Amino acid sequence: MNTKQVIKRAHSFAKPFRVTDRRGFSLKDIDPGDTLQFGSEEKPRAQEALAIGIQALAELQDMLYAQDRWAVLLIFQAMDAAGKDGTIKHVMSGVNPQGCQVDSFKAPSAEDLNHDYLWRCMQRVPERGRIGIFNRSYYEEALVVRVHREFLEKQTLPPELVTKNIWTHRFQDIRSYERYLARNGVIIRKFFLHVSKKEQKRRFLERLENPEKNWKFSANDIKERAFWNDYMDAYEDMIRNTATPDAPWYVVPADNKWFTRIVVGAAVVEALDALDLRYPKVSKEKLKELSAAKQVLLGGEKS
Ligand code: ATP
Ligand code: MG
Repeated sequence: MNTKQVIKRAHSFAKPFRVTDRRGFSLKDIDPGDTLQFGSEEKPRAQEALAIGIQALAELQDMLYAQDRWAVLLIFQAMDAAGKDGTIKHVMSGVNPQGCQVDSFKAPSAEDLNHDYLWRCMQRVPERGRIGIFNRSYYEEALVVRVHREFLEKQTLPPELVTKNIWTHRFQDIRSYERYLARNGVIIRKFFLHVSKKEQKRRFLERLENPEKNWKFSANDIKERAFWNDYMDAYEDMIRNTATPDAPWYVVPADNKWFTRIVVGAAVVEALDALDLRYPKVSKEKLKELSAAKQVLLGGEKS
């Protein structure tokens, strides 16, 4: 398959799940079990598509690194057991580790809480030429913090700033911040891995029953599951308010891990391809230098 075909295929996987418009988005329109035209019998063909996507990604990343102009920030949000970790592991499996970084944002530390909520994430935005991954992010500020008001209290904000408009303000600020990053050459793609409540239950049970997966289970996961509907409302509102052409959300069906990985891989390939990356052109002086070095190596050098 040539590059053009790979890109075309990437578009067909990513586009159905891309949200760029703040109006009209409804979570119920995306089925967590969706696999487009692929039935489970076609899984091997789909996995081949993933392998091709990973290969394309590795080539694009090499140019991103060499060109050293753009940075890429991939943000992952999801309910527990939706497959964030596995998706990151698989999709990034072909890239050069020197050109990428992963940061996980868990419950904030005392130092984090003493700052504005973007502070800890801002420090981890990737530098030019690199791909940065946020495993959870400042979006938790409109999710877990919205579902559990006690987290907001821990932030010790001046009380007059904590009004009923606080979520609207957070969305405005996040949109502005992402626009700022986009204007500075940071390409942002956001992924909500949309798992169903039923599939989450199946995966939790698997974690409880399989000794090799026990470590993945946390009692807190069950507590959060009880707030499922609140989380879905918060996710929907968050996507409606922060999906923009510069920083789109991809609402990725997550009941089938193999499909999730293909869609995320395709979205990243698509994002990098849109940058028209190329290796830096070497100047005339540099070419002379290279040719002189070659002569030294091939010619008079004493061995
Ligand atoms: P795993 O797949 O291993 O469970 P995880 O991302 O769920 O990975 P955990 O340590 O289980 O990692 O959970 C991190 C927790 O931190 C989540 O429950 C998340 O909601 C919480 N968290 C993240 N950011 C914030 C925040 N700003 N305020 C409060 N809680 C937060
Ligand atoms: Mg967890």
